[in-house]
Amino acid sequence: MLAPIDLHAEGPRVSRLVLGAWRLAQSRLDGAGIRNLVAAAIEVGITSVDHADIYGDYACERLFGSALADAPDLKRQIQIVTKCGIKLLSQVRPEHRVKHYDTSGAHIIASAENSLRLLGVERLDLLLLHRPDPLMAKVANVGVSNFTPSQMDLLASRLRAPLATNQVELSVLQLAPFSDGTLDACQLRRIAPMAWSPLGGGRLFAEGDAHARHLRDTLYRIGQKKNGAPIEQVAYAWLLAHPAHIVPVLGTSKIERLREAARAIDLNLDRQDWFEIWQAAAGGEVP
Ligand code: NAP
Repeated sequence: MLAPIDLHAEGPRVSRLVLGAWRLAQSRLDGAGIRNLVAAAIEVGITSVDHADIYGDYACERLFGSALADAPDLKRQIQIVTKCGIKLLSQVRPEHRVKHYDTSGAHIIASAENSLRLLGVERLDLLLLHRPDPLMAKVANVGVSNFTPSQMDLLASRLRAPLATNQVELSVLQLAPFSDGTLDACQLRRIAPMAWSPLGGGRLFAEGDAHARHLRDTLYRIGQKKNGAPIEQVAYAWLLAHPAHIVPVLGTSKIERLREAARAIDLNLDRQDWFEIWQAAAGGEVP
């Protein structure tokens, strides 16, 4: 069973692995399927769910909210993360002439209220600004997503409450946050970053080039030393092992894959395992 983690000393508390809702609409799960997925996640300690207003072309929050409408028991046990600030070109938003960002106070409040209504919850445990907006306004009690360290500094300098997290793309296929200051900035602020697309959005299994094959082989070989752990479990364990307390946001809609992911918490990589994976991911040894 996974123990929860405080993203920041002042909260919020989320599960050590988070269930991502981005692919919910395309998963074709019906209401019962979504309830079963959430119940199975809770069973292994994955109690936080990551949404955004725009997921599934503005459909996912509603889908999730309707599925859990008559399941107060499930709702009581989960924490809701959602995001705002991106305005997509969409048939359901005909007033958008161009894809743009809006972190004005008015939009943040309207978007949060809409998310509350669609999700059918009384509280959003964490609201993230989805992307940095060049025309950024004052906001409070939120985290961010896809922010550079200096963008975090800028926003934090205008806030009274601390930023709760920075949710960024991070995996064996996306190493940039390790070296561009993103993780350092989170550690300096004592916040746990969240990692989206921890399996590269599925590219870990799909890509056929020599680098991807070598990376898979390395994860497989190390997994074999650890009771035959599958490669995705090794990839999650690699993120969990980092001292920044990275919180992976899982993209799967399959119950068995969620259970498999939760076992990553017991998979201990030693320093040399970790660097072997680093080397395979980076395509060369550390200097
Ligand atoms: P991911 O876990 O890297 O990728 C999920 C994809 O990989 C799914 O299509 C899944 O298919 C497939 N997959 C998982 N395990 C597999 C396996 N063993 N073999 C083959 N395929 C496998 O994560 P993601 O969906 O890209 O992103 C995760 C979450 O991050 C999203 O749901 C969202 O909440 C968040 N996110 C945030 C941002 C942001 O800007 N903040 C951006 C993107 C995503 P199955 O469903 O069939 O398992």
